[in-house]
Formats: sequence, structure tokens, C-alpha cells
Amino acid sequence: MTAARAAQSARPQLVIEQLTLRHGLLEAVRGVSLTVREGETIALVGANGAGKTTLLRGIAGAHRASAGTITFDGVDVTKLPGHRRVGMGIALVPEGRRLFANLTVEENLSVAIQRRRPGRWTIDSVIEAFPMLEPLRAQRAATLSGGEQQATAIGRALISNPRLLLLDELSLGLAPVAVEGVYSSLKSVIGEGSTVVLVDQDITRAATIADRVICMLEGRFVLEGARDELTREQITEAYFGLHRSAGAGT
Ligand code: ATP
Repeated sequence: MTAARAAQSARPQLVIEQLTLRHGLLEAVRGVSLTVREGETIALVGANGAGKTTLLRGIAGAHRASAGTITFDGVDVTKLPGHRRVGMGIALVPEGRRLFANLTVEENLSVAIQRRRPGRWTIDSVIEAFPMLEPLRAQRAATLSGGEQQATAIGRALISNPRLLLLDELSLGLAPVAVEGVYSSLKSVIGEGSTVVLVDQDITRAATIADRVICMLEGRFVLEGARDELTREQITEAYFGLHRSAGAGT
């Protein structure tokens, strides 16, 4: 069975229904619904301002829902604060990475240990999955390259042993070789069965590791489908809003 097929038959882990998220009067996410199955990888794509970051923050509990529900593992988490959701297994790697600049790589990873759920991810296993970090254990985060910072930020999220990993702007600002390294390590993380929702401006790259691609435009899902079913043209059209009648309609 392919990974995509396996994900299709797995049980729903995250169920979002009619979710609306606002910034003041602006509806950044407008009544979207989404079911993510255990072990599935979703690429969430869309132009700047489409609402991707706000949606990820809403799932992680960093942005309060104005309407709708978010259910994780059968539990309604819509009103739970972020730290309770981390405890349940939801981890967000935010845009911009947000590392502690004056702490070393190992210290940044250690920060997450207090809230760690039991599981496979430890400092050592993270460094094994992201080998570029091995020689950098004692190096301050401020002196790392973008790719090394991104690897550290993903590693920090993994240490909480999440069941759902939310990654925002995975390759933003990274050199091509760093993107390669981060994606190749991420593939091994996905291979271990983590559920992943990933945002990346690099649509082609994101689509290569996703089971399903969802395109957002102005707070709505305008296209959604299995990676193999969508053409690059369909995704590009939806991305730029050239074909507003296409897609999921939520
Ligand atoms: P980007 O790729 O630029 O991060 P995005 O798809 O992640 O875009 P969001 O950052 O979620 O989109 O933004 C969605 C909408 O909400 C945009 O219109 C944006 O201007 C607005 N917005 C985002 N953050 C805030 C904020 N803190 N205050 C007010 N409006 C905001």
C-alpha cells in the first residue's frame, strides 16, 4: 500500500469544521473545513495573505477561533490554550523560527524537554534525523545559517513528541542546498508516521512530499486534491485566483 493510500484509510486525527479566524474585522480564515488523517502529509499553499499562517496558528491554539470547531483525536480543542494542545501532541514550527538567539542548538532543543510527551524524539534522535546539527550542538543559534536554524526549530518541535506537526514557511529564506537538507530530513520524520501540515511558498517542493495539496485564497480553500490528481497548472491557477470556480468550495 502506498503512503497516500495508507493515510486515506487511517482514522481522522484533526477535524476542522467551519472555522473562522479574524484579525479584528478582517476574516483571515473564512469558514474552512478540513479532515486530516493520521500519518497524512498536507501541503497548504497560497499567495501572501491567503490565511495559511493564521490557520496554522488557529490549529495550534495561538489564535482564537471566532466560529467553528477544531477536534483533535476526538476531543474538541477549540477553546483550549496552546500549551494544552502541545500536551495533546500538536506542535507548531512558526514562521521565522523563533529560536533563542543566545542559546546553543542543544540548549534550544532542551527548552522543549519540560513539555515533552513520551516518545521516540530526544535530543540525540533529533540530531540523528538532522545530521547537519551534530557539529553545531554547542553553537549559538544567532550564528547559524537559515537552514540550520530551521532544522533546530523543527527539532525543537519534534522533542515534544507531537502527533501533528505544523510547519510554517518551511523553506523561506533558505539557500537551495539548505532546503534540500531540511526536506530530506523531514522525509525521514514523515516516514516515522507523523502527521504533517506544511506551508511553503515553494509549491513544487512541498507537493513532492505531500499526500494532499490544499490551495488557499483569501481565507478559503479553493482547490484540494491528492497530489497525484492535481496538475501544476491547476495549482498555479488556484494560487493566483485565476480560476475561482475550481475546487473545494469551503
Ligand atoms: P504569508 O505567506 O504572507 O504569511 P499567509 O497566507 O500566511 O500569508 P496570513 O499571514 O494568515 O496569510 O494573513 C491572512 C490575512 O490576515 C492577511 O490579509 C493579513 O494581512 C492579515 N493579518 C495577518 N496577521 C495580522 C495581524 N497580526 N493583524 C492584522 N491583520 C493580520
